[in-house]
Amino acid sequence: MTILTPNSPTAELQAMDAAHHMHPFSTNDDLAKKGARVITRAEGCWLTDSDGNRILDGMAGLWCVNIGYGRRELADAAALQIQELPYYNTFFQTTHVPSLNLAARLAELAPGDLNHVFFACSGSEANDTNLRMVRTYWHEKGQPERQVIISRWNGYHGSSVGSGSLGGMKGIHAQGGLPIPGIHHIGQPHWWAEGGDMTPEEFGLMRARELEQAIQEIGPDKVAAFIAEPIQGAGGVIVPPDSYWPEIKRIVKEYGILLIADEVICGFGRTGQWFGSQTLDIQPDIMTVAKGLSSGYQPIGASIVSDEVAAVIDATEFNHGYTYSGHPVACAVALENLRILEEEGIVDRVREETAPYLKQKFESLTDHPMVGEAKIAGMMGSIALTPDKASRAPFKAEAGTVGYVTRERCFANNLIMRHVGDRMIISPPLVISKSEIDTLIERAWQSLDEAHAQIKAEGIS
Ligand SMILES: *Cc1c(COP(=O)(O)O)cnc(C)c1O
Repeated sequence: MTILTPNSPTAELQAMDAAHHMHPFSTNDDLAKKGARVITRAEGCWLTDSDGNRILDGMAGLWCVNIGYGRRELADAAALQIQELPYYNTFFQTTHVPSLNLAARLAELAPGDLNHVFFACSGSEANDTNLRMVRTYWHEKGQPERQVIISRWNGYHGSSVGSGSLGGMKGIHAQGGLPIPGIHHIGQPHWWAEGGDMTPEEFGLMRARELEQAIQEIGPDKVAAFIAEPIQGAGGVIVPPDSYWPEIKRIVKEYGILLIADEVICGFGRTGQWFGSQTLDIQPDIMTVAKGLSSGYQPIGASIVSDEVAAVIDATEFNHGYTYSGHPVACAVALENLRILEEEGIVDRVREETAPYLKQKFESLTDHPMVGEAKIAGMMGSIALTPDKASRAPFKAEAGTVGYVTRERCFANNLIMRHVGDRMIISPPLVISKSEIDTLIERAWQSLDEAHAQIKAEGIS
């Protein structure tokens, strides 16, 4: 058979892709007709496609390439590790150097007493671990009836059966018989879309108190944990009102339930601190990490677990693990990634310099006639598209129509900016420079203009 190369003609690459490759979260028939864009290489914040276009990656891949593309050090770390020890398991009384080093490094970086690490290969897997771990924790503590996990509508925790159930994405629940039993969803702190006439602060408090109501309805002795992203990512970069997290903190403490912070996006500098939990001043019992842990160079995730939870779990045999838990190559690459993040002061630079600059530029997009609000925390931001800024009204067209048109204009203008419904979101590599931020904003503005003209011409309102 033919093996194609990055230099093969685009049409051939697309045809073979369409014939055999089933893309995630896609309608593959539509994609096949259009042809997937073939990304062939990348450097810094820039992707190159098979036609030679250079595209500014405003999404850091899928929220993960925090240190940017093309870092030779990570390639070297992988090559060395593959030669020395490409694989060994950690199930049967064995360990290896990269996994123990990375576990210790994560314990050092993570806030408070989060000192113990269970490895997975992705965020979904790590959340599956968490689901089983918190239920096992309460079982071992002699409270086996504490099994319900509370999470939020429109939260994202992955797309496996367990993590997809934890998440609150209706499109995921609709396929394959999810959610599994024992998961209860409450409302999200999404003021723009759901806040009505309340102030953001009133609304944030109201949504936090849904947690307390849920605990009381389910029974305080039946609730194991609450899981949430510090700032929702895939749900549309929803920065909660300031009143939200302090009230959640009060409630989890008062009812003694475990708090799982899903840091898969917020972790490793995205919000201007090492973890979103630090930015939002929360102290979880378990943190889920993945994505930025290796800057996406290798698939790896982990649960970072408190002394208290680990003490209970470690006293029994936890019948759980993945063949590639703590994969040595992934761990070696993650360690190198963390070294670069720290030694190059990337997280500090985000907080002190580039995120404030991006915030100022990004918020100026609200001057555009179609943009209602801009929300940003560190290097993750979103704008709400609306036909009427004052009333925060949605478009008459089906939700997501205008967002999709706008995203298509961005793509055509060589800017990767995603849409979630009619919100446009960004999450660029943390190494993005001020001049690249200028380019991002210019292209976003241009794309908004074109989308605005297009929806007028097509009578979309
Ligand atoms: C991406 C994501 C996940 C799932 O991670 P995968 O590596 O895709 O399985 C879980 N939680 C959050 C917050 C995410 O953004």
